[in-house]
Amino acid sequence: MPDFDLYRPSEEHDMLRDAVRSLAEAKISPYAAAVDEEARFPREALQALTANELHAVHVPEEYGGAGADALSTVIVIEEVARVCASSSLIPAVNKLGSLPVILSGSEELKAKYLGPLAKGDAMFSYALSEPDAGSDAAGMKTKAVRDGEFWVLNGVKRWITNAGVSEFYTVMAVTDPTKRSKGISAFVVEKGDEGVSFGAPEKKLGIKGSPTREVYFDNVRIPADRMIGAEGTGFATAMKTLDHTRITIAAQALGIAQGALDYAKGYVKERKQFGKAIADFQGVQFMLADMAMKISAARALTYQAAAASERGDADLTYQGAAAKCFASDVAMEVTTDAVQLLGGYGYTRDYPVERMMRDAKITQIYEGTNQVQRIVMARNLP
Ligand SMILES: Cc1cc2nc3c(=O)[nH]c(=O)nc-3n(C[C@H](O)[C@H](O)[C@H](O)COP(=O)(O)OP(=O)(O)OC[C@H]3O[C@@H](n4cnc5c(N)ncnc54)[C@H](O)[C@@H]3O)c2cc1C
Repeated sequence: MPDFDLYRPSEEHDMLRDAVRSLAEAKISPYAAAVDEEARFPREALQALTANELHAVHVPEEYGGAGADALSTVIVIEEVARVCASSSLIPAVNKLGSLPVILSGSEELKAKYLGPLAKGDAMFSYALSEPDAGSDAAGMKTKAVRDGEFWVLNGVKRWITNAGVSEFYTVMAVTDPTKRSKGISAFVVEKGDEGVSFGAPEKKLGIKGSPTREVYFDNVRIPADRMIGAEGTGFATAMKTLDHTRITIAAQALGIAQGALDYAKGYVKERKQFGKAIADFQGVQFMLADMAMKISAARALTYQAAAASERGDADLTYQGAAAKCFASDVAMEVTTDAVQLLGGYGYTRDYPVERMMRDAKITQIYEGTNQVQRIVMARNLP
């Protein structure tokens, strides 16, 4: 038999997908509606993911992790998001928060912070955005001032995913205000550091199970060796991180879209109008065909970007932005069409597609809005 596995995930990737799908359907899906309705952290998902070592699969083996490649990480996030977008932010943000340490941190930092993450003893968040510095993240105001063997942090970070739940935070702060982005450094801050506190959870449209809070730094004094990489390299590390992790947002978007299509596909076969299943109407079939086609295209772009991330390809910045932008736009379109296919029922909380439509919206906004992705792509055209 000739080998035709030229342009598809490996057998191991397919097996991983099957395993995560079974787990997600059995242990995460049953709580997805309640997590959304009650806007509560998906603790059942955290437990199920941790018990199966799927909460932070990207952590390298030398630090006690599974050492999964970027495509495997995408598959985990995609399959969790297919049933519960909020829960998919556990593996996604664990990667986002810890990748700066993996990319630029000292051996000591890696050993200290990646082990507890891999074991499931601690989650990791990423703190870049501020109340007045979103798309223009380099306009941040949070400051770190050197004091002997310490840095002292003061400021406010906004919109921090899993804030309060995470033990560890990668925090970008200005260390030299005269140099704008080259005067920003990255630090690991612990939840228990004196002077760290959190705002009230934001009341959001979607991903209600994922806490989003402000983080306050009030004279937070941390040892100098908590700096990630050299002074002044924090913004570059933050952007390099996003090159890799925008692909995980694409994966989340893809999973949400697939979940909506799968639900709608089943529904149209059951729902009868005019004496037949609505699936028999060509107008409905064409909608489903378009939804599937868009998802296939988004998946191809996302997996290709994951491969580029794993290899460290030169065009990763373009690929990550393109995958995130395209997949999130697809997620918004597909979930909106899924609501349409369920008619009035789709508009109620008795069915999951309205939650999926609300959850999809954030994927067009965070890790850089889709306008920002287009700026990034335009600056890095292939
Ligand atoms: C639920 C949630 C979770 C989040 N999690 C995190 C997190 O964990 N860590 C973190 O650091 N941040 C996080 N964010 C922040 C997120 O990345 C920012 O909200 C996002 O980057 C946009 O910034 P902004 O909200 O300040 O919008 P703004 O930058 O004020 O943008 C407003 C509008 O202007 C447009 N715009 C701005 N500049 C341009 C331009 N140059 N050209 C064209 N259009 C432009 C934007 O696209 C947008 O439509 C999260 C946000 C949310 C809502």
